[in-house]
Amino acid sequence: MSNYVQDCIALCEKKNPGEVEFHQTVEEVLGSLAPVIEKHPEYEKVALLERLTEPERGVTFRVVWVDDNGKVQVNKGYRYQFNSAIGPYKGGLRFAPNVYPGIIKFLGFEQCFKNALTGLPIGGGKGGADFDPNGKSDAEVMRFCQAFMTELYRHIGPSTDVPAGDLGVGGREIGYLFGQYKKIANRFEGVLTGKGLSWGGLNGRTEATGYGIVFFANRMLEANGTSIKGKTVAISGFGNVAWGTVKKATELGGKVVTISGPDGYIYDEAGITGEKIDFMLELRSSGKNICAPYADKFPGSKFVAGKKPWEVKADLYIPCATQNEILIDDAKQIVANGCKFVCEGSNMSSSNEAIAYLQDNGIIVGPSKAANAGGVACSCIEMGQNAGKTVFKPEDVYAQLYDIMIGIHDACEAASKEYYGTYDLVKGANIAGFLKIADAMMAQGIV
Ligand code: GLU
Repeated sequence: MSNYVQDCIALCEKKNPGEVEFHQTVEEVLGSLAPVIEKHPEYEKVALLERLTEPERGVTFRVVWVDDNGKVQVNKGYRYQFNSAIGPYKGGLRFAPNVYPGIIKFLGFEQCFKNALTGLPIGGGKGGADFDPNGKSDAEVMRFCQAFMTELYRHIGPSTDVPAGDLGVGGREIGYLFGQYKKIANRFEGVLTGKGLSWGGLNGRTEATGYGIVFFANRMLEANGTSIKGKTVAISGFGNVAWGTVKKATELGGKVVTISGPDGYIYDEAGITGEKIDFMLELRSSGKNICAPYADKFPGSKFVAGKKPWEVKADLYIPCATQNEILIDDAKQIVANGCKFVCEGSNMSSSNEAIAYLQDNGIIVGPSKAANAGGVACSCIEMGQNAGKTVFKPEDVYAQLYDIMIGIHDACEAASKEYYGTYDLVKGANIAGFLKIADAMMAQGIV
């Protein structure tokens, strides 16, 4: 690795002490850029990597709200506006109890490359709060969202920064956030994406992330002489991303045999199809964050408490739950299972050590920043729809999404072949995303 790259990784760790998830992604991305930096010595002269790893702006704010018992609650809210070289900041909001700057910065940093890979004009940002919507009443969620937006609204705008959902922020939360923005700003505009269909939302946005993951995974399999048809697929998670992934994987002829929650995983040998996929929506809206009820509802399936689904033999694994759900021991299990493909659905699904182990053992890995970019790509289409005061048809959105995902796969493949002479989508995604941002930053001067 070049000294410049190593120095920048060390500097970022020093400047952001204790933020291990952020360090992890910076190490992973910068670690693959050495041949690019070698070819472009001008980047070091303008401190490009130091600028890339420092958010352009970050706000932390107090969110005060009153719970159903009349008790005053205080949370921490965040928005890190990472990079606007290729477009307005764009990226979701995560509401989860473990949210702290290290999580939001990792997500924001990843988002820059992901958004660049889509080929669309969107920069990267991410936000959220250490608020847990699970177990809260609708009224509590609404009051929290209103309090959160009462501060956030001054930092965002359709050409400035356009938040969306992420873990803990779905259609309901986007509704409450949008309602409060509109009330305070007195403007009906595309300031959030993932909106409801009757008020500016995009046909197809709900399923976009999952569908995109499967389009990407299938292209990756095709590039390696096979396809998803007839493959056994193990998926983790049961939220929006997992749901869209199961739906599309099944449609393309794959057999999905697992989903999971924080409580354990479901193994359904017959395959998760039809009403079983619909039941995932019920699980999600129950607000309990558990998948065990699936096994009571569908005889023949079983619930395995406290375990991850990677112990099930499959041809293709698609983690769709959260970051670092494939650690080194999981990677060993996946290799021992004889699998050939892992396609990351959740952001930074695997530790760096796990990715290295999988790849060293001949497994093809699709990295999340490429594979799950379909969600944010459709968000950008939603921004265009709102700006044009129009409504796009679902079939047009799906067709665009498909083209974008194929384009992303092929750009990653081309970049890895050019700089490393191999088919390595992990390195290729970093390089292809980086080059687009770097080009724009070079053109825009020292800012
Ligand atoms: N949170 C999603 C992601 O990780 C979507 C972001 C968006 O649509 O802006 O890409």
